[in-house]
Amino acid sequence: MKVNKIAVVGSGYVGLVAAACFAELGYSVVCVDNDLERVAALNRGEVPIHEQFLPELLERHRNHRLHFSGSLAEAVQSCSIIFVAVGTPPKDNGEADLSYVESVAREIAQNINGYKVIVEKSTVPVYTSNWIRRVMLLTAQAECEFDVVSNPEFLREGTAVTDFLYPDRIVVGADTPRAAKILRDLYSPLTSGSYYGSLDKIPEPDGITGPPPMIVTTAKSAELIKHASNAFLAMKISFINAVANICEEVGADIEQVAEGVGSDSRIGPRFLRAGIGYGGSCFPKDVAAFRAVALECGYEFGLLDEVMKINETQRQRFMKKIRTALWTLKGKKLGVLGLAFKGRTDDIRESPAIALVEELVAEGACVTAYDPAAMTRAQEALGTRIKFAESISQAAEGADALLILTDWDEFASLDLSQIRKQLRYPIVLDGRNLYSLEEMEAHGLMYVSVGRRASALKQLAKVG
Ligand code: NAD
Repeated sequence: MKVNKIAVVGSGYVGLVAAACFAELGYSVVCVDNDLERVAALNRGEVPIHEQFLPELLERHRNHRLHFSGSLAEAVQSCSIIFVAVGTPPKDNGEADLSYVESVAREIAQNINGYKVIVEKSTVPVYTSNWIRRVMLLTAQAECEFDVVSNPEFLREGTAVTDFLYPDRIVVGADTPRAAKILRDLYSPLTSGSYYGSLDKIPEPDGITGPPPMIVTTAKSAELIKHASNAFLAMKISFINAVANICEEVGADIEQVAEGVGSDSRIGPRFLRAGIGYGGSCFPKDVAAFRAVALECGYEFGLLDEVMKINETQRQRFMKKIRTALWTLKGKKLGVLGLAFKGRTDDIRESPAIALVEELVAEGACVTAYDPAAMTRAQEALGTRIKFAESISQAAEGADALLILTDWDEFASLDLSQIRKQLRYPIVLDGRNLYSLEEMEAHGLMYVSVGRRASALKQLAKVG
């Protein structure tokens, strides 16, 4: 089957990026969302999420190879490959809420008019492909021909476009040779390397050594690969955070320890950054969902409980540091840098920064916050409970302390002399370890970070 037109259902962080990237690979794509305001905004040329290279791709392909629609029925009828990239949020018990996936499957079945490949792009628990198949068979009026494939997405917000176009690997879980071949053909511009020879390709990130391999598995294995990968990465973060806590107790430096540990090629340096814990729309929900899957299968995956517990405790430990540094919080004016769950994105879902700000406000602190991209979303979430600054400088002005809560690049190159002059108390609490103690001390700042000794002001040393 020659791939000519693809439907992508969901125009969020994953769906929109996937749709734009498939258009970039030469396919005609219709991206469907049931949020009609979002569809209208996309059709007007707006870019609803902050993502490097996405504006360029939308500009290049919108109304040519890429179209936006609110009609799933039309998309199903005109496309033979349908990617499902809708949300799979957590339920109260940690399980993934698959109702959006189910409703899409039902609508596909109601409109099926020939062979379709339904591709799970959303992160879903093992067995979801079986459930989709079942819903399709129960819903379709007549005999219908289709395959369900799992093609998990590993992109990271902030570098989503390059992650999609230059992935480490492409995982395809297909239970029939026919569906496996269609997905192989679909991704051939990447796996053959032909896209990388194009003159106007999106520039490749550092460290790319060649075209990505495609790993073809069963659908169940592919579903498990995604959950296991995210759980492993979250575990790495919690692990280094636990080690950071020991560093604080014994007076060692987590940055040195992480460098030593991460230089072992069997371990690797990535995701070994101590801080205030992971957040975002994936790790918290995927770890909980994977734990729920395990429990359902009769296996108590206690390691994941510990990963979640360390992550929660890490934020509480930082909160305690703020209290210790400032003595009382009521009425204190705090400058906060960062609200997104990590740098380079406007996503605040499960952001540890937002959770900390909420706790600070609950304890009576007056927060003025700045984030390079997440201000609009944060305003929606926090309303008038805090003030929003237009710049780093405005957030720091007259504050009793400056808090760094997100690892944006611009927060790693602050004008420290200026900050020192602006702060009422020269205190910086850094939940992302963006500075060395020496640098902060050289600027006369008391610096509290994660997994390292706190640098006291010389004249305060005898108080502590
Ligand atoms: P999102 O909330 O940003 O987007 C989901 C979109 O789906 C929304 O625009 C919503 O309106 C739309 N939608 C919901 N029901 C629909 C329906 N019936 N028909 C049409 N559209 C519908 O979510 P996201 O961050 O893009 O994540 C999507 C999935 O991908 C999740 O399962 C997530 O776990 C997974 N994932 C996310 C990331 C990430 O970094 N965000 C990375 C890898 C995988």
